[in-house]
Amino acid sequence: LLETHGITKAYGDHEVLRGIDFTVEPGQVVAVIGPSGGGKSTFLRCLNLLETPTTGRVVFAGDELSATQSNLNQLRARMGMVFQQFNLFPHMTALRNVVLPQMNVLGRSREEAEKRGRALLGRVGMSHRADVFPNRLSGGQKQRVAIARAVAMDPQLMLFDEPTSALDPEVVHDVLEVMSGLAKDGMTMVVVTHEMGFARKVADRVVFIDGGRIAADLPPEEFFSPANDNDRIKAFLAKVL
Ligand code: ATP
Ligand code: MG
Repeated sequence: LLETHGITKAYGDHEVLRGIDFTVEPGQVVAVIGPSGGGKSTFLRCLNLLETPTTGRVVFAGDELSATQSNLNQLRARMGMVFQQFNLFPHMTALRNVVLPQMNVLGRSREEAEKRGRALLGRVGMSHRADVFPNRLSGGQKQRVAIARAVAMDPQLMLFDEPTSALDPEVVHDVLEVMSGLAKDGMTMVVVTHEMGFARKVADRVVFIDGGRIAADLPPEEFFSPANDNDRIKAFLAKVL
């Protein structure tokens, strides 16, 4: 569904990504983990061209992506993105946050967008907060609305960048549940996360990014196995587990 070929990204003479070859098949859940500053967010942002790679190619559903193409918004709608900081529109209710992009980007009628919006708010357990503004929602509730907003666009692929890192520990579970539900329903997902439990239980593959390179790409059983004798991974896991 998505392939990258030799992606590099440099800021001035600082090489952040050093040649990333990566593929996601339809329905796969890929957990991306690794040390801070290793390039995980930059990599994720290159996948939907929020960041333009310095060199290399991104091919999505058979189309080579280029930063100059006119339909970038349509493209981004097909790759839903969820950030650490929610990025809800503060002046709109939860429901309106989920409804408006469907109307603006996909051209859905208000009626259709509201129907889908309410159904998805229900699915993330937020029906009772549909008419509330973001400043009156908890972090976990905001994140669930943000996920509903992204899913409402019927994306082919969802990108998550540390969706639970800004949350209080007691609500992390609610958001991970919603993500596990999406995964079970067959959503293709690339998830940058520090939640090793999620990587182990939900992901099909664990990709370890270190120093701008993919240092490992393994099924979770192998990645987390005591037999995995990669020293960088061992040192990383010793810190986070
Ligand atoms: P974290 O786990 O802390 O989120 P990360 O793996 O997501 O880290 P990135 O955010 O991709 O890492 O950053 C990788 C490197 O690129 C860092 O050294 C960072 O300082 C640098 N970097 C990221 N964005 C920019 C930018 N816009 N300009 C200059 N340097 C940047
Ligand atoms: Mg990051």
